[in-house]
Amino acid sequence: MSVVVVGSVNLDHVVRAPRIPGPGETILGTDVAEHPGGKGANQAVGAGRSGAETVFVGALGDDPAAARLLSELRGAGVETRHRTVDVPTGTAWITVGDDGENVIIVVPGANMSITELTESEREIVGSARVLLMQQEIPESAMVDAAVASGGLVLLNAAPTREVHPALLALVDVLIVNEHEAADLNGAPAPAAELVSGLLERVPAVVLTLGAEGSLIAVRGAEPVAVPAHRVQAVDTTGAGDAFCGALAAELDRTAPHGITGPGPLGDLLTRLVEAARFATSVSALAVQRPGAASAIPARDEVLKAYP
Ligand code: ATP
Repeated sequence: MSVVVVGSVNLDHVVRAPRIPGPGETILGTDVAEHPGGKGANQAVGAGRSGAETVFVGALGDDPAAARLLSELRGAGVETRHRTVDVPTGTAWITVGDDGENVIIVVPGANMSITELTESEREIVGSARVLLMQQEIPESAMVDAAVASGGLVLLNAAPTREVHPALLALVDVLIVNEHEAADLNGAPAPAAELVSGLLERVPAVVLTLGAEGSLIAVRGAEPVAVPAHRVQAVDTTGAGDAFCGALAAELDRTAPHGITGPGPLGDLLTRLVEAARFATSVSALAVQRPGAASAIPARDEVLKAYP
């Protein structure tokens, strides 16, 4: 296996309304829609569409939402090694007002039932060249996966929460946006300072900066800035997920034969910069379309738009 994503999967229910109602208030909505979501599933779709052989490891309930989500994942070329548990599939309940303001309630449901990996899940993780995780499942399962990993361990520290030192010690590449980096460092700071603070805890960092692009840093080397493409963004939801999935896929494609773990740090910097350039192109196309997972382009589209 090439890329394994161990993470969350949710069905997002999106209600559109003229405005966000106040406490105790009932108003009429104008539209309701369902979309596949959860950072784990979105990033697995990103890796799958980017051409990597991808496996998603996660938990879902025994319900229609699960069937819908699994078919979406398979449609993106992602193999699923999921568990079916006696808890409803994770859901997110999102209200979007006409002014673009939103409120979101996430009910993690089945996602929280993965407290450790099964023997067969450990085996899948152990055979992958790249392990990609986010922070929407219990930390104990993430530590378990990182210990079992035979390749590069990528952690997208989103949504922001304290990362247990035991997990951070096993991470090769930390992917964070500015808010997450500031939280982990304890205070906001310029990008270069955020990155150098994080490099004291992990060997490599990818700091994403929205329309400004990203900063790639590996211990002992000068950070490299990768500018974003200038595009007319219509929906930046899930830009980070598209970026992370594509980054993992490209790191897998450029993995030197026989090397497990990060390999020499100098080589890792070169590979990370190349992977970030590809991920930048993937997310530039994704932000020009509405939706999260559904907006992620296929590899040939990316190479055609940004040769
Ligand atoms: P989100 O939480 O919205 O999914 P994020 O905060 O995790 O996103 P960002 O830093 O906003 O991640 O975006 C990830 C990458 O997507 C950026 O590094 C950049 O390459 C690309 N990107 C994001 N927004 C834009 C934009 N407006 N124009 C071009 N590229 C963008």
